Amino acid sequence: PGAYQDIRMSYIAKPKVSHPKLPRNALGLSVRDYEGSVSTLCAGCGHDSITAALIQAVFELGIEPHMLGKMSGIGCSSKTPAYFVSQSHGFNSVHGRMPSVTTGANAANKDLIYIGVSGDGDSLSIGMGQFAHVIRRNLNMCYIIENNGVYGLTKGQYSASADVGSTAKKGPANRQMPIDPVSTAIGLGATYIARGFSGDKKQLVPLIKAAISHKGFALLDIISPCVTFNDHQGSTKSYAHTREFYHHVIDADFVPPAKEILASYEEGEAMPIELHDGSKMVFRKVDKNYDPTSREAAFSFLRSSVRAGEIITGLLYIDEEAGDMHDLSGSVDRPLAKIPYEELNPGKATLAKVMGSYR
Ligand code: SF4
Repeated sequence: PGAYQDIRMSYIAKPKVSHPKLPRNALGLSVRDYEGSVSTLCAGCGHDSITAALIQAVFELGIEPHMLGKMSGIGCSSKTPAYFVSQSHGFNSVHGRMPSVTTGANAANKDLIYIGVSGDGDSLSIGMGQFAHVIRRNLNMCYIIENNGVYGLTKGQYSASADVGSTAKKGPANRQMPIDPVSTAIGLGATYIARGFSGDKKQLVPLIKAAISHKGFALLDIISPCVTFNDHQGSTKSYAHTREFYHHVIDADFVPPAKEILASYEEGEAMPIELHDGSKMVFRKVDKNYDPTSREAAFSFLRSSVRAGEIITGLLYIDEEAGDMHDLSGSVDRPLAKIPYEELNPGKATLAKVMGSYR
């Protein structure tokens, strides 16, 4: 698949034309400054809608492009980092290995903002072990799964997120139990878990902004229909099925630190949660009994929604108190990448002393 993807990774640069009246963010950049190359995905693919939401989110957050690290594995979803913020860092790794490459990058330079884009195939089969351990380490990153239930790049085989009874274009229905990344992440201890739909940009943009601002591992599972191989009647990841069965458990607004909270909410129906950087998420509960700060409540609500055949969207769980990988391992404040070699390498004598202390 790697060689196949290399051929398809060839890209076409977008013309540099920008209207002078386009809105600017705090850095003086317009949304056009956050675009990437022209997408080579199939017209109508949900992944392109997610790319548009990502561009809007990083533009609104005012992220300096060179402070962004875009990470991916293999699959149609993993091609998408080429289509946003072309002036940033990027690493298109091998199948299922995006989490370990991101862990290495983050260990060396914790100042960068990491957005990993993966798919259900990349994360839930070959990359399942890495997915589990990056959650366990609470790596500070925004991890997006563009979830369509099939391997689009290799012509539509069922992936591990395909629901029982879901059909392909041809052949028998899927009989194997799906792996739900959201329930899995709750069980593994993820500290920010949300689900969205590529067709709902209004909901998606604040969820992405909060995922980027959260300090720790933020999972965004986004149902993203594959129009070429999995958008027919009988598929449970099609546009029609998702629109019919998806249910917002919570509506969320992202409020940056310097902005007043104008979203109206009544006590008992909505609540603001402060994120690590001082920004806030304001939740309006659609389901009045839902509490996104309780792991147990989130898990049991998700199980009951699966039994009811509903696709629950919104921010499902958040924990702003847990330390990220660097807090847990007691790293120095300065990113290792910015520490001079002489300091990083204390010399043979010091090393021998350290080793001696373990004997
Ligand atoms: Fe998107 Fe499916 Fe086409 Fe891949 S094959 S680009 S997932 S529509």
